[in-house]
Amino acid sequence: MTDQTSELLYMRAKLRLPGGVNSPVRAYQAVGRTPRFIQSAKGSHITDVDGNEMIDYVCSWGPGILGHADSRVIEKVKAACEEGLTFGAPTEREVEMAELLAQLVPSMEVSRLVSSGTEATMSAIRVARGYTKRDKIIKFRGCYHGHSDGLLVKAGSAALTTSVPDSAGVPADFTRHTLVAEYNSPDSVKALFEAYPDEIAAIIVEPVAANMGVVPPADGFLEFLREITKHYGALFIFDEVITGFRLALGGAQEYFHITPDLSTFGKIIGGGMPVGAYGGREDIMRMVSPDGPVYQAGTLSGNPIATAAGLATLRILEADTDIYMRLQENTAMLADAVRHAAGNRVHVNQIGSLMSIFFTGEDVTDYDSATTADTKAYADYFGFMLDHGIYVAPSQFESMFVSDAHTDADIQKTIHVMQEYFAE
Ligand code: PMP
Repeated sequence: MTDQTSELLYMRAKLRLPGGVNSPVRAYQAVGRTPRFIQSAKGSHITDVDGNEMIDYVCSWGPGILGHADSRVIEKVKAACEEGLTFGAPTEREVEMAELLAQLVPSMEVSRLVSSGTEATMSAIRVARGYTKRDKIIKFRGCYHGHSDGLLVKAGSAALTTSVPDSAGVPADFTRHTLVAEYNSPDSVKALFEAYPDEIAAIIVEPVAANMGVVPPADGFLEFLREITKHYGALFIFDEVITGFRLALGGAQEYFHITPDLSTFGKIIGGGMPVGAYGGREDIMRMVSPDGPVYQAGTLSGNPIATAAGLATLRILEADTDIYMRLQENTAMLADAVRHAAGNRVHVNQIGSLMSIFFTGEDVTDYDSATTADTKAYADYFGFMLDHGIYVAPSQFESMFVSDAHTDADIQKTIHVMQEYFAE
């Protein structure tokens, strides 16, 4: 197996693109390898420019729940292309998408389409602030909500101290109103509400954290957040960019039976094209321009090609009543095989088609326990998998994404390679 063409492209890329990539995790920095440049992908398989074909568990970081280039989706996209790429004027598919969202995710009474998950969360927070006339928000350490200034905060050494931005170029003033609590720790949330009872506009949470590796919510945690936000007159925002249409057709809110005030979506809702959405309770969403005073806009928002791909994907998911059971079973099979093969060298978190193998002996329930994982050990595992035709995330703190295109043979081959790795 060679990666000569990828090597050459990477050298060229590094001259003209920061790190040679258009999104940092693609550079393989955490695993010390040359990134594979991709030529094409179909179903569960992805092929790089050197012709190496791999079983793909990245699935474009979540959108590919049906696998790559599903012919039913491609057909709709092609037809949409023939009609024109963008109009900057309303189209029927946008209405259909908003109607379908309200049907599949009942809390999405009114929604607005955007072009990425980052835009969706940034806008939902603006709406929450506009509606409550409060400035502060609570997010959780280790949860990622895109790269807008106010959300690029993961850690103050103590939760009540001034929040420090994670990125250069974000003025501390811009993150002053971002309070950080600990995932799965009700006490850390309580303390923030007690300190700022009338100032917190919203809590935003990944209902299943998937950006510090996969960390499911502890029993009662989401219920507690629902209660405390109600008590203090704050809004509760579910960031379902990863969990939406993945844990269940109605997302994490269906899975856990919690009704948030606002929700954000991305990834699957675009079926592989750039789409995001935010929405929720009608009285809150009527704040959005031009109905209300909260401004938010986008040249390509609700793009006709993207809505064609998204609608096709959601309708396939809607029609297939067994898909979430199949995904759960296949992913659980992988998780059980790793637990069996690796014993207490790893901790595996799995829920639905999301799964992470943490290279630590500890239970992983929050950011502190997630970061006990040995990233060097993960890099070694990643390299072995890559060299044996299994494409997993090039970072310890990401999810594996299982798609409906993964066949029994794919799963068995993956288990076999994992067993080989842990036997060595
Ligand atoms: N929220 C969550 C939970 C995410 O995982 C991501 C991206 N991985 C985002 C928001 C941002 O989405 P995008 O990359 O489409 O801007």
